[in-house]
Amino acid sequence: MRPDDDALAATAAGTAGVPIDMESLGRDFGPVRALAEMSMSVRPGEIVALLGPSGSGKSTLLRICAGLEAPTSGRLLFAGVDQAGLAPHQRDVALVFQHYALYPHLSALDNLTLALRYGRRMSRSAAVARARETLEMLGIGALADRRPAQMSGGQRQRVAIGRALARRARVVLLDEPMSGLDAKLRVELRVEIVALLRRLGSTALFVTHDQSEAMAVGDRVAVLNGGRLEQLGTPDEIYDRPATRFVATFVGSPP
Ligand code: ADP
Ligand code: MG
Repeated sequence: MRPDDDALAATAAGTAGVPIDMESLGRDFGPVRALAEMSMSVRPGEIVALLGPSGSGKSTLLRICAGLEAPTSGRLLFAGVDQAGLAPHQRDVALVFQHYALYPHLSALDNLTLALRYGRRMSRSAAVARARETLEMLGIGALADRRPAQMSGGQRQRVAIGRALARRARVVLLDEPMSGLDAKLRVELRVEIVALLRRLGSTALFVTHDQSEAMAVGDRVAVLNGGRLEQLGTPDEIYDRPATRFVATFVGSPP
């Protein structure tokens, strides 16, 4: 067990997010250039929404940050440390996918503690304390003993998000975490996710193809198109001063 894990578990939340620096990241799949010259700096604790149409390279960028995909060119740094060659479990990242797989035979609590005990090597008591705290923060503390089949879709999604965020990673990567939910639930859940990220202090990249979601979630919004960064700015800047015709059209404001 790492000593800082139990120390962290004893406090309510509390993780210092780290700066992320992308330097000319590129990724080719054969002839397909999924990502090209992606340069961006994200501040500690900042939430950047990655916004773009399907195929614009959002998931590829997230997978590179998670260590699931290697860039063909360029560098990625977390807190100034080059992440090249570091496997996913060697990086301080949590990844929230669009499709979750909770263990159906385990309670919500055990779904979280399992990940903490074996992923983070926490003691049972520390893992349970951390798991309960995380479920409380997501408003599902009362459901700790239920199995996935005994929960609604939205509740299951909260458990899955909790499982990823319980790790208290310094970088949190979310890839369309709410697709498949109805509009009302999406809005509800995104408010909770943002509140939780703020409370944890994690630096976060939040992928979406929905412009209103990007504007609501992001401190800044990065607009991607064809693997390239069209514009990076605050929601106001993106909306009021679109840098390119693409941004103007995609975001829906006049050029
Ligand atoms: P987004 O998440 O924005 O929809 P992706 O990052 O998934 O975009 O994909 C960007 C481009 O890279 C697309 O043209 C996609 O077909 C291609 N691509 C992504 N992953 C692979 C892969 N494993 N093999 C081949 N092409 C891929
Ligand atoms: Mg995608």
